[in-house]
Amino acid sequence: MRVVVTGGSGLVGKHLQEILPEAFYLNSKDCDLTDVKKVRWMISSYTPDVVIHLAARVGGIQDNLKYPADYFDDNILINTNIIKVCREYNIKRFIGILSTCIYPNIVNNYPMTEKDLFTGPPPQSNFSYGYAKRCLAVQIDAYNKQFGTKYNYLIPCNLYGDYDNLHNKNKMHFITALLNKIRNNQDNSLHLLGTGKPLRQFMYAGDLAKIIKLVIENNITESFNVAPNFNYSIDKMARIALDVTNKDYNIIYNRPELDGQYRKDVSNKKLLKLFPDFKFTPLKEGLKKVYDKIS
Ligand code: NAP
Repeated sequence: MRVVVTGGSGLVGKHLQEILPEAFYLNSKDCDLTDVKKVRWMISSYTPDVVIHLAARVGGIQDNLKYPADYFDDNILINTNIIKVCREYNIKRFIGILSTCIYPNIVNNYPMTEKDLFTGPPPQSNFSYGYAKRCLAVQIDAYNKQFGTKYNYLIPCNLYGDYDNLHNKNKMHFITALLNKIRNNQDNSLHLLGTGKPLRQFMYAGDLAKIIKLVIENNITESFNVAPNFNYSIDKMARIALDVTNKDYNIIYNRPELDGQYRKDVSNKKLLKLFPDFKFTPLKEGLKKVYDKIS
């Protein structure tokens, strides 16, 4: 089975390489997915049976607020080009990786299930990114209806992992930024942005990689959320991180306007029905791995 992974140089792509080394891992230099001609060239050259689509323009809240048009355009183009060309070339399997950022800002009941996806607009803090990524769910469902394809998507919560870019602050994910700050701290105070109150599910990116592999191996064509059960406040996460790293700093919060969405926890019932034995990496174990990696 020939597997092509777009976004292969990213956090999730690198975790997937550890457990699916035989796939082809492409980055934006191998093929700029915003250019449909390059996408046609790539798909016709690799002739994959399966495309795992990880590539996206991804960034932190400040970057999202500054460049909303770029986030929208790039993600719409990347997603539209790849799915359209996969269908043109009769690619059998396409697995799109979305994000819980695509869910409505507020729903009546938490955790959100897959049925809540279209019940309201995404949060303002990453409105254009969230909407653009949500469109891929619409597109996949539409392709399946019109063309009879068996494409699907996974919706993971916030991720952290071993391969974050420590040199690009705009690209660094929250947990790595937090652990990096703890590691480099010069005094007894740990300064964090926001209020610490928002609730988040965080998953070790290696767990998402394992789920993607299981989806391919078991020929799963359903679309579902991927997230662990816990949903902690940022403040609790920071305290767990201090505990794991044996540090005892006072946490000081600045710039409350940068909190983002209050909560966006999703249900993993559908996932656990498909893979009842799946075990998520415990948070403390995952944090320790990443801290050891960056230390
Ligand atoms: P990442 O580390 O930011 O990597 C992004 C990947 O996309 C890189 O390989 C990048 O290639 C590629 N890319 C960007 N623009 C491209 C373009 N125009 N053409 C081709 N490739 C392009 O992302 P990640 O954290 O691994 O995330 C993977 C997927 O999971 C994304 O779809 C993201 O939305 C989703 N997700 C991530 C999180 C999270 O917390 N990280 C949470 C939920 C969902 P270069 O290296 O060449 O730039």
